[in-house]
Amino acid sequence: KQPLIFAITPTYKRWTQKADLTQLCQTLSHISNLRWIVVEDSEQKTPLVTNLLSHCPVNSTHLNFRTSQSLLNIVNTTDKKPQVKKPRGIEQRNTALKWLRRQYRHGEVKGVVYFADDDNTYDLRVFDEMRPTKMVSVWPVGLAGGLKFEGPICVGDSVKQWYAYWARDRKFQIDFAGFAVNIDIILNTKALILTTSKPGYIENDFLEQLIEFYDLEPKANSCQSVLVWHTRTEKPQMFYEEQLNKMGHPSNPGIEV
Ligand code: UDP
Ligand code: MN
Repeated sequence: KQPLIFAITPTYKRWTQKADLTQLCQTLSHISNLRWIVVEDSEQKTPLVTNLLSHCPVNSTHLNFRTSQSLLNIVNTTDKKPQVKKPRGIEQRNTALKWLRRQYRHGEVKGVVYFADDDNTYDLRVFDEMRPTKMVSVWPVGLAGGLKFEGPICVGDSVKQWYAYWARDRKFQIDFAGFAVNIDIILNTKALILTTSKPGYIENDFLEQLIEFYDLEPKANSCQSVLVWHTRTEKPQMFYEEQLNKMGHPSNPGIEV
Protein backbone atom coordinates (compact mmCIF):
# COMPACT_ATOMS: atom_id res chain seq x y z
CA LYS A 1 0.00 0.00 0.00
CA GLN A 2 1.28 3.47 -0.85
CA PRO A 3 2.57 5.74 1.93
CA LEU A 4 0.02 8.03 3.53
CA ILE A 5 0.56 11.77 3.12
CA PHE A 6 -0.09 13.86 6.25
CA ALA A 7 -0.70 17.40 5.05
CA ILE A 8 -0.47 19.88 7.95
CA THR A 9 -2.28 23.18 7.45
CA PRO A 10 -2.25 25.99 10.00
CA THR A 11 -5.13 28.38 9.42
CA TYR A 12 -6.56 31.54 10.99
CA LYS A 13 -9.69 33.65 10.72
CA ARG A 14 -9.63 36.34 8.05
CA TRP A 15 -11.84 37.41 5.16
CA THR A 16 -10.27 34.99 2.68
CA GLN A 17 -10.04 31.98 5.00
CA LYS A 18 -13.03 30.12 3.59
CA ALA A 19 -12.02 30.80 -0.01
CA ASP A 20 -8.46 29.62 0.63
CA LEU A 21 -9.56 26.49 2.50
CA THR A 22 -12.15 25.68 -0.18
CA GLN A 23 -9.43 25.78 -2.83
CA LEU A 24 -7.10 23.65 -0.75
CA CYS A 25 -9.86 21.13 0.02
CA GLN A 26 -10.60 20.80 -3.66
CA THR A 27 -6.92 20.37 -4.52
CA LEU A 28 -6.42 17.71 -1.85
CA SER A 29 -9.62 15.90 -2.82
CA HIS A 30 -7.79 14.67 -5.94
CA ILE A 31 -5.12 12.95 -3.85
CA SER A 32 -5.59 9.41 -2.59
CA ASN A 33 -4.18 8.22 0.73
CA LEU A 34 -3.93 11.60 2.31
CA ARG A 35 -4.90 12.87 5.75
CA TRP A 36 -5.41 16.61 6.05
CA ILE A 37 -4.49 17.89 9.51
CA VAL A 38 -6.05 21.32 9.84
CA VAL A 39 -4.92 23.31 12.88
CA GLU A 40 -6.89 26.43 13.61
CA ASP A 41 -5.18 29.35 15.28
CA SER A 42 -8.06 29.86 17.69
CA GLU A 43 -9.19 29.22 21.25
CA GLN A 44 -12.00 27.01 19.98
CA LYS A 45 -12.67 25.13 16.80
CA THR A 46 -14.81 27.49 14.73
CA PRO A 47 -18.10 26.59 13.01
CA LEU A 48 -16.71 27.89 9.69
CA VAL A 49 -13.82 25.43 9.58
CA THR A 50 -15.87 22.61 11.14
CA ASN A 51 -18.54 23.00 8.44
CA LEU A 52 -16.04 23.33 5.66
CA LEU A 53 -14.32 20.10 6.69
CA SER A 54 -17.65 18.30 6.99
CA HIS A 55 -18.39 19.15 3.35
CA CYS A 56 -14.86 18.43 2.16
CA PRO A 57 -14.32 14.90 0.82
CA VAL A 58 -10.77 14.74 2.21
CA ASN A 59 -10.06 12.65 5.33
CA SER A 60 -9.24 15.23 7.92
CA THR A 61 -8.28 15.80 11.51
CA HIS A 62 -9.37 19.09 13.02
CA LEU A 63 -7.22 20.57 15.79
CA ASN A 64 -6.81 24.03 17.25
CA PHE A 65 -4.15 25.98 19.12
CA ARG A 66 -4.26 29.71 19.74
CA THR A 67 -0.92 31.40 19.10
CA SER A 68 0.45 32.41 22.49
CA GLN A 69 0.51 36.06 23.44
CA SER A 70 4.29 36.08 23.75
CA LEU A 71 4.61 35.21 20.05
CA LEU A 72 1.92 37.65 19.00
CA ASN A 73 3.82 40.38 20.85
CA ILE A 74 7.03 39.87 18.89
CA VAL A 75 7.82 43.19 17.31
CA ASN A 76 10.67 44.13 15.03
CA THR A 77 13.51 45.24 17.25
CA THR A 78 15.48 45.96 14.08
CA ASP A 79 13.53 49.22 13.82
CA LYS A 80 15.05 50.30 10.49
CA LYS A 81 13.87 47.89 7.81
CA PRO A 82 10.66 46.00 8.44
CA GLN A 83 12.18 42.55 8.05
CA VAL A 84 10.30 39.28 7.90
CA LYS A 85 7.13 39.69 9.91
CA LYS A 86 6.15 37.82 13.02
CA PRO A 87 6.20 34.04 12.91
CA ARG A 88 3.03 32.50 11.51
CA GLY A 89 1.64 29.05 12.12
CA ILE A 90 4.52 27.76 14.25
CA GLU A 91 2.59 26.51 17.26
CA GLN A 92 -0.14 25.14 14.98
CA ARG A 93 2.37 23.02 13.03
CA ASN A 94 3.79 21.83 16.36
CA THR A 95 0.30 20.91 17.55
CA ALA A 96 0.03 18.65 14.50
CA LEU A 97 3.49 17.11 15.10
CA LYS A 98 2.52 16.33 18.69
CA TRP A 99 -0.77 14.82 17.52
CA LEU A 100 1.15 12.55 15.10
CA ARG A 101 3.46 11.45 17.93
CA ARG A 102 0.47 10.62 20.11
CA GLN A 103 -1.23 8.69 17.29
CA TYR A 104 1.64 6.58 16.00
CA ARG A 105 4.75 4.78 17.18
CA HIS A 106 7.83 4.57 14.98
CA GLY A 107 7.32 1.96 12.23
CA GLU A 108 3.56 1.82 12.73
CA VAL A 109 2.57 3.71 9.61
CA LYS A 110 4.18 4.27 6.21
CA GLY A 111 3.88 7.97 5.56
CA VAL A 112 5.18 11.42 4.72
CA VAL A 113 4.61 14.72 6.49
CA TYR A 114 4.12 17.89 4.47
CA PHE A 115 3.44 21.44 5.68
CA ALA A 116 0.78 22.81 3.35
CA ASP A 117 -0.10 26.43 4.13
CA ASP A 118 -3.65 27.37 3.27
CA ASP A 119 -2.86 30.04 0.65
CA ASN A 120 -0.22 28.32 -1.48
CA THR A 121 -0.87 26.81 -4.91
CA TYR A 122 -0.22 23.10 -5.37
CA ASP A 123 0.24 21.14 -8.60
CA LEU A 124 -1.24 17.70 -7.93
CA ARG A 125 2.04 16.14 -9.09
CA VAL A 126 3.91 17.50 -6.06
CA PHE A 127 2.11 14.86 -3.98
CA ASP A 128 3.33 12.05 -6.26
CA GLU A 129 6.83 13.44 -5.88
CA MET A 130 6.81 13.52 -2.10
CA ARG A 131 5.08 10.19 -1.46
CA PRO A 132 8.20 7.94 -1.69
CA THR A 133 10.29 10.19 0.62
CA LYS A 134 12.86 8.14 2.55
CA MET A 135 14.14 10.93 4.81
CA VAL A 136 13.54 14.46 3.53
CA SER A 137 12.70 15.27 -0.07
CA VAL A 138 13.12 18.76 -1.51
CA TRP A 139 12.04 20.78 -4.54
CA PRO A 140 11.88 24.46 -5.50
CA VAL A 141 9.04 26.75 -4.41
CA GLY A 142 7.84 29.26 -7.00
CA LEU A 143 7.43 32.95 -6.14
CA ALA A 144 9.23 32.59 -2.80
CA GLY A 145 11.98 34.54 -1.10
CA GLY A 146 11.63 37.53 -3.40
CA LEU A 147 12.71 35.35 -6.33
CA LYS A 148 11.14 33.47 -9.25
CA PHE A 149 11.71 30.48 -7.05
CA GLU A 150 13.63 29.63 -3.91
CA GLY A 151 15.13 26.28 -3.06
CA PRO A 152 17.59 23.61 -4.06
CA ILE A 153 19.76 23.50 -7.15
CA CYS A 154 20.40 19.85 -7.85
CA VAL A 155 22.57 17.63 -9.99
CA GLY A 156 21.08 14.20 -10.48
CA ASP A 157 20.01 12.94 -7.09
CA SER A 158 21.96 15.33 -4.92
CA VAL A 159 21.48 18.90 -3.84
CA LYS A 160 24.48 20.99 -4.90
CA GLN A 161 23.56 24.43 -3.65
CA TRP A 162 20.65 26.73 -2.91
CA TYR A 163 19.00 29.49 -4.85
CA ALA A 164 18.07 32.06 -2.20
CA TYR A 165 18.76 35.69 -1.43
CA TRP A 166 18.01 35.90 2.29
CA ALA A 167 19.94 34.12 5.01
CA ARG A 168 22.40 32.45 2.68
CA ASP A 169 24.22 30.94 5.65
CA ARG A 170 21.34 28.51 6.15
CA LYS A 171 22.18 24.84 5.75
CA PHE A 172 18.65 24.36 4.39
CA GLN A 173 17.51 27.36 2.34
CA ILE A 174 13.97 26.27 1.73
CA ASP A 175 10.37 27.25 2.46
CA PHE A 176 7.95 24.93 4.28
CA ALA A 177 6.24 24.22 0.95
CA GLY A 178 9.49 22.89 -0.51
CA PHE A 179 10.10 19.75 1.54
CA ALA A 180 8.46 16.65 2.96
CA VAL A 181 9.65 14.41 5.79
CA ASN A 182 9.25 10.67 6.22
CA ILE A 183 7.01 10.20 9.24
CA ASP A 184 9.49 7.86 10.94
CA ILE A 185 11.99 10.74 11.08
CA ILE A 186 9.32 12.78 12.85
CA LEU A 187 8.39 9.92 15.18
CA ASN A 188 12.06 9.14 15.95
CA THR A 189 12.76 12.62 17.27
CA LYS A 190 11.12 15.22 19.44
CA ALA A 191 11.95 17.91 16.91
CA LEU A 192 9.58 20.87 16.91
CA ILE A 193 9.49 24.11 15.02
CA LEU A 194 11.28 26.59 17.24
CA THR A 195 9.52 29.73 18.37
CA THR A 196 13.01 31.08 19.09
CA SER A 197 14.28 30.87 15.49
CA LYS A 198 15.42 34.08 13.84
CA PRO A 199 13.01 35.22 11.13
CA GLY A 200 13.85 33.38 7.93
CA TYR A 201 15.55 30.53 9.79
CA ILE A 202 12.45 28.65 10.94
CA GLU A 203 12.47 25.88 8.34
CA ASN A 204 16.27 25.59 8.55
CA ASP A 205 16.28 25.22 12.33
CA PHE A 206 13.59 22.55 12.13
CA LEU A 207 15.40 20.54 9.44
CA GLU A 208 18.74 20.80 11.28
CA GLN A 209 17.15 18.78 14.09
CA LEU A 210 16.21 16.01 11.67
CA ILE A 211 18.84 15.34 9.01
CA GLU A 212 22.16 16.19 7.43
CA PHE A 213 22.55 18.07 4.16
CA TYR A 214 23.56 14.91 2.27
CA ASP A 215 20.35 13.16 3.35
CA LEU A 216 18.26 15.42 1.11
CA GLU A 217 16.43 13.74 -1.77
CA PRO A 218 15.87 16.00 -4.79
CA LYS A 219 12.46 15.64 -6.45
CA ALA A 220 10.59 17.40 -9.26
CA ASN A 221 12.87 16.49 -12.14
CA SER A 222 16.04 17.03 -10.14
CA CYS A 223 14.64 20.31 -8.78
CA GLN A 224 14.02 21.73 -12.24
CA SER A 225 10.20 21.80 -12.09
CA VAL A 226 8.16 24.20 -10.00
CA LEU A 227 5.15 22.29 -8.64
CA VAL A 228 4.22 24.56 -5.76
CA TRP A 229 3.94 28.32 -5.50
CA HIS A 230 4.10 30.58 -2.47
CA THR A 231 1.10 32.57 -3.59
CA ARG A 232 -0.55 34.95 -1.12
CA THR A 233 -4.19 35.88 -1.19
CA GLU A 234 -4.73 39.61 -1.27
CA LYS A 235 -6.57 41.08 1.70
CA PRO A 236 -9.90 42.34 0.38
CA GLN A 237 -11.01 45.88 1.20
CA MET A 238 -14.42 45.93 2.85
CA PHE A 239 -15.07 49.64 2.31
CA TYR A 240 -18.61 49.33 0.97
CA GLU A 241 -19.80 47.00 3.73
CA GLU A 242 -19.57 49.96 6.08
CA GLN A 243 -21.00 52.38 3.53
CA LEU A 244 -24.09 50.30 2.89
CA ASN A 245 -24.57 49.79 6.60
CA LYS A 246 -24.50 53.54 7.22
CA MET A 247 -26.95 54.02 4.36
CA GLY A 248 -29.37 51.71 6.13
CA HIS A 249 -28.91 48.67 3.91
CA PRO A 250 -27.07 46.23 6.16
CA SER A 251 -26.02 42.87 4.78
CA ASN A 252 -27.47 39.64 6.08
CA PRO A 253 -25.11 38.88 8.95
CA GLY A 254 -26.06 35.20 8.73
CA ILE A 255 -24.32 34.73 5.41
CA GLU A 256 -20.98 33.03 5.89
CA VAL A 257 -18.28 34.24 3.52
N1 UDP B 1 -1.31 31.43 10.07
C1 UDP B 1 -1.83 31.18 11.33
N2 UDP B 1 -1.92 32.21 12.24
C2 UDP B 1 -1.52 33.49 11.94
C3 UDP B 1 -1.01 33.74 10.65
C4 UDP B 1 -0.90 32.69 9.75
O1 UDP B 1 -2.20 30.04 11.63
O2 UDP B 1 -1.64 34.39 12.79
C5 UDP B 1 -1.23 30.33 9.09
C6 UDP B 1 -1.74 30.70 7.69
O3 UDP B 1 -3.14 30.40 7.57
C7 UDP B 1 -0.88 29.86 6.77
C8 UDP B 1 0.43 29.78 7.54
O4 UDP B 1 0.14 30.04 8.90
O5 UDP B 1 -1.39 28.55 6.57
C9 UDP B 1 1.45 30.79 7.02
O6 UDP B 1 0.89 32.09 7.12
P1 UDP B 1 0.85 33.11 5.90
O7 UDP B 1 0.35 32.39 4.69
O8 UDP B 1 0.12 34.32 6.34
O9 UDP B 1 2.40 33.42 5.76
P2 UDP B 1 3.23 33.93 4.51
O10 UDP B 1 2.65 33.31 3.28
O11 UDP B 1 3.06 35.40 4.53
O12 UDP B 1 4.61 33.47 4.80
MN1 MN C 1 1.12 32.13 2.78
